[in-house]
Amino acid sequence: MSLLTVGSVAFDKLETPFGKTDKIVGGAATFIALTASYFTPKNNLVGIVGSDFPEEMIKIFNEHGVNTDGLEIDPEGKTFFWHGKYHQDMNNRDTLDTQLGVFENWEPTIPESYQDTQYLMLGNMVPAIQHATLKKLRNRPKFVMLDTMNLWMDIAMNDLRKVLADIDCLTINDAEARQLSGDYSLKRAAKTIMDMGPKTLIIKKGEHGALLFQDDRTFYCPALPLEEVFDPTGAGDTFAGGFIGYLAKTDDLSFDNLKRAIIYGSAMASFCVEKFGTERIQYLSQTEINNRVMEFVQLASFEIID
Ligand code: AMP
Repeated sequence: MSLLTVGSVAFDKLETPFGKTDKIVGGAATFIALTASYFTPKNNLVGIVGSDFPEEMIKIFNEHGVNTDGLEIDPEGKTFFWHGKYHQDMNNRDTLDTQLGVFENWEPTIPESYQDTQYLMLGNMVPAIQHATLKKLRNRPKFVMLDTMNLWMDIAMNDLRKVLADIDCLTINDAEARQLSGDYSLKRAAKTIMDMGPKTLIIKKGEHGALLFQDDRTFYCPALPLEEVFDPTGAGDTFAGGFIGYLAKTDDLSFDNLKRAIIYGSAMASFCVEKFGTERIQYLSQTEINNRVMEFVQLASFEIID
């Protein structure tokens, strides 16, 4: 099935306890689309960059089978830039700088060839733009997933509420789930958030895994304890790319398959953090992915003996 990813394609400058980078390519949609490319061959991207964006990266997208017809290049402007710094505890980070560049006032255009998309991933960005994008698709996709962040809860809550009412699945972290629901208990928070619209909710807990909620059902997927955690940037987006990429590949929205998808998402995210930026997820083999998924299966499997 076809997947459309919409979101930021960016330059990131990163500082972690293990090193620093100059400007490297990042952005939510970059991580999502590259990751999903390991699962679905019909992988479309909508985003915007400036004339400073490297052609080499567009080539890398295309080599991964990501269709970039929907990636606008504004010759006048600069690519979105984000500068983040992680603390010793890498679950926490500070945003040191955000320069919206061409991302400011951007109205996504959906190429005609993307109109029949069945799976839609709305990466983290201004909620009104996420909503406008969804409305630009003539046929509503079968499955619409959205990522957001605390910033939009602070400054655009009304717009966020409106788009939440029209999606199928939301992915946020635990602090954001508590902020959105006003409830500390994640179980109750999940119910409150699902009442806002999305029938499926994923709450990410960083190095402590992720929770999947749907109706009264809950599933927990751990994160793999890793020897090397180098840079968590993009882990959430990589998770989302693995999750929705697997769903687009299998085209099965049963709860059992959502459980499998969350394992694939977690496995892909575990690669992402091993190197800076997209370095690790650009060059994965199917064998590496399968082996990593098996590590998850073994990590969480046990028998009860009476
Ligand atoms: P994650 O670590 O999964 O939360 O995503 C990190 C990516 O999100 C980075 O590559 C940034 O370029 C991108 N990013 C950071 N802030 C924003 C924002 N306000 N809107 C869109 N993308 C952002």
